[in-house]
Amino acid sequence: MKRVLIVDDSRVARRMLKNMLETSGYEVVAEAINGKEGFELYKKLSPDVVTMDITMPELNGLEALAQIREFDPDAKVIVISAAGQDEKQKEALGLGAFKFITKPYENEDILNAIKEC
Ligand SMILES: [Mg+2]
Repeated sequence: MKRVLIVDDSRVARRMLKNMLETSGYEVVAEAINGKEGFELYKKLSPDVVTMDITMPELNGLEALAQIREFDPDAKVIVISAAGQDEKQKEALGLGAFKFITKPYENEDILNAIKEC
């Protein structure tokens, strides 16, 4: 069973993701409210997959993605962010994001991405 770390500053977004992932049989090992906490929890828990929001205080999702990938070049990070951000998408994939999914997302998009990880 894959262990997932959720990184998002929105409590509602975290709850929706968590419910959806747990319903689908995944273990959510932790939730982080910004990129800084996300990186710390990644190092501590080494989850199989990370879902990463971009716009967050302290450390944004792209910065956190870069830190995580530097720490662990095999890290699987799925970036979930608002649509219409082509530049951000390019940047995320350039930094080694496994997948870039736009909000509002279909549950299947995320579940399929995690399956592929
Ligand atoms: Mg956000």
